[in-house]
Amino acid sequence: MSERPALQLRDRAVKALKDDQMRQAVRNAVDRLSGNKEKAARELPHWEQWREQTRLIRQHTIDNLDYYLKMLTDNVRKAGGQVHFALTAEAARGIITGLCQQYEAKLVVKSKSMVTEEIHLNPALEKAGMEVVESDLAEYILQLAGETPSHIIVPAIHKNRYQIADLFSQVAGEKVESDTPALTRFARQTLREKFMEADIGITGCNFAVAETGSVTLVTNEGNARLSTALPRVVISVMGMERLVPAFEDLETVLSMLPRSATGQKLTSYISVINGPRQAADIDGCEKFHLVIVDNGRSRILADEEYRQSLNCIRCGACFNVCPVYRQIGGHAYGSVYGGPIGSVITPLLENDFAFWGELPYASTLCAACTSTCPAKIPLQELLLKLRAHRVSAGYTNTFEKIAFGLWKRFFKLPGTYKFAMKAASLGQKPLVKNGYITARIPLLANWTNSRYLPAAADETFRDRWKKRKKQVSP
Ligand code: SF4
Repeated sequence: MSERPALQLRDRAVKALKDDQMRQAVRNAVDRLSGNKEKAARELPHWEQWREQTRLIRQHTIDNLDYYLKMLTDNVRKAGGQVHFALTAEAARGIITGLCQQYEAKLVVKSKSMVTEEIHLNPALEKAGMEVVESDLAEYILQLAGETPSHIIVPAIHKNRYQIADLFSQVAGEKVESDTPALTRFARQTLREKFMEADIGITGCNFAVAETGSVTLVTNEGNARLSTALPRVVISVMGMERLVPAFEDLETVLSMLPRSATGQKLTSYISVINGPRQAADIDGCEKFHLVIVDNGRSRILADEEYRQSLNCIRCGACFNVCPVYRQIGGHAYGSVYGGPIGSVITPLLENDFAFWGELPYASTLCAACTSTCPAKIPLQELLLKLRAHRVSAGYTNTFEKIAFGLWKRFFKLPGTYKFAMKAASLGQKPLVKNGYITARIPLLANWTNSRYLPAAADETFRDRWKKRKKQVSP
């Protein structure tokens, strides 16, 4: 899936922490998004019941995924579309590139799709000689900048309008003003021409509907509609978990997705594709292909606990409340999927705990992600389980192993624990100021270089307990 970044998580985070502009842009955006989401949740009566309903729909779908995938496949074929299954990212790239070559495509327009980022589709199509144009405004910006998304809903969250104006000016060969109307006018004019000329439209899939064989796309810019209505051939690419059983389930998931993502009641456009154009249709594509990507999802499905991560509706709400994401932004995660859900699914999709096993540590385990998740995925529990998995697989470093080994031996004896607490309380005295150790401690430098260490309490819990017992005893 993701190409391995050159730096370790710690170094990527340090680099991100030095980027004040990015951090400011991310903070402003996540504050606005999470504030909007809270307001939307308050406005919708019985928010918790809607969350539970979302969880039930997703859990039922994932628990019966083979059944609903077969139903979806049969119904797409009945509607005149073709369905392809890809076990790996490489297979998915091969299928899509092959289809584009079969239709002699020169220009491909894409609407926003995280799964095509996951399988690294654009470089494969470009290598095969095609021009690929991202039509979502934020994705278009990132394509010009040669960057990857840093948020699953707001991919260019780390960029400000001055940076975007510079990028557009380079393409235009003249100055493009940095106000929003000027930027969108420029993007609209440039992209309209591409839509008109494109041979193939490639889309993602927010939710496929098994009972009707439909692919549903939600956008705020209408680019998915143009990508599917104008080109002769449409290829939709979906992760194999991205479906719901029945059309009526869309009412729940399409209410919760925009509310959780941006605080909108509905997105500006909801496009539903039901195969290629039929005789009575006034527009639509001539050929429709659905590519269903596994790429590690079957492995996640096989684990009763981890499979809950497949319930994700990709709303990005967990990013917006995560204190770690807020500080380091999306690129520091190094994966296509960042934030809390990315820290859960990346090691699992990659099946690589040696390298990606460090991502579950990009969390304070505060559980804000779990509290906000519209699908009620217990993210912090899954993060903890992944940490345990990494430790039991032996991927911790030698220092960690020795430190925790000693800690375990020392502290499992009540006498030594008591002695250590007393010794710490007395030994720290010369270093304590207003309840904190303010001096830098070499072994704990990563902590004490930037913040004070809370001092151990003067009185241990055991001593207080003893005292209280005496006080309440007659
Ligand atoms: S894990 Fe939950 S909050 Fe995060 S993107 Fe998925 S559905 Fe949204």
